[in-house]
Amino acid sequence: MNNLLDKIKAAKLVGRGGAGYPTAAKWEMVKKASGQTKVVICNASEGELGVFKDFHILKKFPQDVVKGMVLAMDYLGTKQAYFNFNKKYYRRIILKLDPILKRYEAKGYRFTVYEEKPSYIGGEETALLNAIEGRRIEPRLKPPYPCDAGLFGKPTLIHNVETLFNVARVAEGKFEPNRFYCLSGPKKLNRVYYLPDSWTIEQILKKTKRYPRYDFFAQIGGGASGLVINQKQMETQKMTGAGSLQVFRSTTDPRQLLLHWFEFYAKESCGKCTPCREGSFQLYELLKRNKRVPWKKMMTIVEIMGKISFCALGKSIVIPVKSYMKNVLKKRA
Ligand code: SF4
Repeated sequence: MNNLLDKIKAAKLVGRGGAGYPTAAKWEMVKKASGQTKVVICNASEGELGVFKDFHILKKFPQDVVKGMVLAMDYLGTKQAYFNFNKKYYRRIILKLDPILKRYEAKGYRFTVYEEKPSYIGGEETALLNAIEGRRIEPRLKPPYPCDAGLFGKPTLIHNVETLFNVARVAEGKFEPNRFYCLSGPKKLNRVYYLPDSWTIEQILKKTKRYPRYDFFAQIGGGASGLVINQKQMETQKMTGAGSLQVFRSTTDPRQLLLHWFEFYAKESCGKCTPCREGSFQLYELLKRNKRVPWKKMMTIVEIMGKISFCALGKSIVIPVKSYMKNVLKKRA
């Protein structure tokens, strides 16, 4: 099998930014799109709580990430690529990254580095396009999708850092069916592990010697939008989303945990749509004002946000809240 696209299909590569979209399908869509000039973007925005693998990959394997971009550019017949960086990251890896970019630039490839003010919404594909174009950082109405009309209207292939790393590994015949896990928890160092993606959450915690001795629960996928599961569920549950695994003591105060999520949502809401802008603010205020959790009122707002918010940020709030209630507190959501 010589063709890179076939190899990517055989490896069953999926996006590692959270959505898990098949990589080969995305490549084919951009290739087929009608615009003449195509663009590749590496999304190194990484603004969700508990997710810090992109920085780790960029620090340890910058050559693989850039190689993944170059392979994508070659496939699409373009020389144009952009790096969308979380500002905090670029300054810390510039010394390693720039010589690699220069080597490829000498061969005619063009890289534009965009340093983005760290934000959660800035990682959403269309908000990212707006940011690079100098517009307000908020999601666009879809369609059109970036594959057809993305950056400055050109067909655009946007990949997460880990996805591009995987593309390079597939091309070199070194691909392993692993993923990067971001582990964090009370009084434990935040660390990234590269382990089989077939492992259950329990296996990950045990093999990394991070299985707590106390009763606990965990949030997986992302520290804001991720699913909350109990110890029993960890025996079979595998990783989802962007690969974060946060451990919480079972004695964690529900009000404090909810406040932690709602503060994040209120801060990160881009303000474009009313349900998310007002809802996230009201949730935060509601919890701040009350010493006890007003479950009914809270759930009314959460449900509205989940149903009619404009983008995935506002919609996702139901996932942690409902799963926490059902799986840990054993409450009816
Ligand atoms: Fe912005 Fe609405 Fe998305 Fe919230 S749900 S981030 S306000 S577009």
